[in-house]
Amino acid sequence: MMDHGHFSLVDGVWLQGTNGCYVSLNPADRSPVGEVHGPDTAVAEQAVAAAVREFRKGQWARSPRTRAAALNAMADAAAAIANDLIDLLVRENGKLRAEATGEVMASISELRYYAGLSRDIFGRTFSGQAGQLSLIDKEPAGVCAVITPWNAPLTLLVRSLGPALAAGCTVIVKPHRATSVVSNLFMRAITSVPNLPTGVLQSLNDPEDWVGAWLVNHEHIRVISFTGSTATGAKIAGSAASRFKKLSLELGGKAPAVVLEDADLDRAAREIAKGITVLSGQMCVCISRVLVDRRVAEAFRDKLVGELSAVRPGPGHLPSSTMGAMFDDGAVERHMTNQQTARAHPDMEVLLAGEDRRDETGGCFVTPALFSSRTTGHPLIQNELFTPMASFETFENPEEAVALANVPDFGLAASVHSTDINRARWVASRIDSGTVWINCHNRLFVEVETGGYKSSGIGRLHGVEALLDFQETKHVYLENDYEL
Ligand code: NAD
Repeated sequence: MMDHGHFSLVDGVWLQGTNGCYVSLNPADRSPVGEVHGPDTAVAEQAVAAAVREFRKGQWARSPRTRAAALNAMADAAAAIANDLIDLLVRENGKLRAEATGEVMASISELRYYAGLSRDIFGRTFSGQAGQLSLIDKEPAGVCAVITPWNAPLTLLVRSLGPALAAGCTVIVKPHRATSVVSNLFMRAITSVPNLPTGVLQSLNDPEDWVGAWLVNHEHIRVISFTGSTATGAKIAGSAASRFKKLSLELGGKAPAVVLEDADLDRAAREIAKGITVLSGQMCVCISRVLVDRRVAEAFRDKLVGELSAVRPGPGHLPSSTMGAMFDDGAVERHMTNQQTARAHPDMEVLLAGEDRRDETGGCFVTPALFSSRTTGHPLIQNELFTPMASFETFENPEEAVALANVPDFGLAASVHSTDINRARWVASRIDSGTVWINCHNRLFVEVETGGYKSSGIGRLHGVEALLDFQETKHVYLENDYEL
């Protein structure tokens, strides 16, 4: 059933703009999910003006308890429609129901976490000598644009929105057009709470894909919290440079999984297969390279191929599916073309052929692929693939494993698999990556910072440090004549 009329939220009112209409599709059967209507620039200007007005008023920026109450009420409102959100997320995004459930529950939990944290923002004081006092305050940085991708539209929205609101910013949300229906349902729920002052939070649809760049260039947007590809992140950083805007960039990844000689191979094969196929290989922290000690390579390869061969792609709502749909036909075609490229290369071999399983409904399904590689210079090893496909590479010793892991210019996530915790930590500490998991992969926590080294981004989200992406530090200095 098609859901009509998804508009933009501006100053407390859901408005229909005049610029374009995008029909979002269910990747599992191409059925329409909803119509996404976009704003024109006049409507987008109204959204920015409301956010600026509320920020300047100062009530929101200076009232941590109001912010905590609003964030808690938002969590309650989202929890009240959790099942609807899960169903819609499966339909609009194509992911498994278990993955959608995890996403919605984590989003609610994250709102509560930042509700608490908004009441725990303290500055510092310093006195260099009698009569001198420095107050070091944390202030909200201003009006913030939160720009999100399609692959985890709720988690990635709340991961920025939670700390932005907790810090005292006012916010304009800009979802990806392909997942705007679920984003809007969530936004309708969380902005209906009485504790949230009108105008603190807006949402602008983007059917024609111009609103993101427009916000980035807007003079009154001071913070850009962007999650998406490294290519778009680089454009944003370029545009934002002329006004020195504050950037929070969570970008692409190319996660390696390092399997040391002494790893529990069965456990590692299970974890790594899950890490390759989670969200159908369309998650920033998905495993894209498997690096294995040569002495256990053959045994491990057989186990990993066994695990990957057992994956059953299918619609996310069916309990029999163990991997959901791909984003679109383009993703399926990329999956197949990348395998042809590997097949044609003298230093590569396809170890497990991924199939194109598009069905008569047009549902975008594939099976996972694995290829061996003896070269590191190739784009298949250097670039994000974003399908369930990984390279299989061998090393002679942990030093070489580290050197291989650090080859791409990404540094978002990695894992090390070993029964020797000291060796695993030695390797973990030498990989250039914002996160390294040991004997598992893809464990993310609301309370713990995540973010990238190198081309994977700037700043950290989740945890206490996420607040820093949305704050300025101010020094207020007092001098008095009397001795204490
Ligand atoms: P994308 O970069 O194509 O789009 C992301 C968002 O940016 C969309 O809302 C889009 O409309 C908007 N946008 C496009 N051009 C823009 C511009 N010039 N200025 C401002 N906004 C613009 O990314 P995607 O395909 O939606 O998402 C997949 C990518 O996101 C992958 O590279 C993945 O690794 C990355 N990602 C990273 C993380 C992380 O935590 N590091 C998490 C999820 C996804």
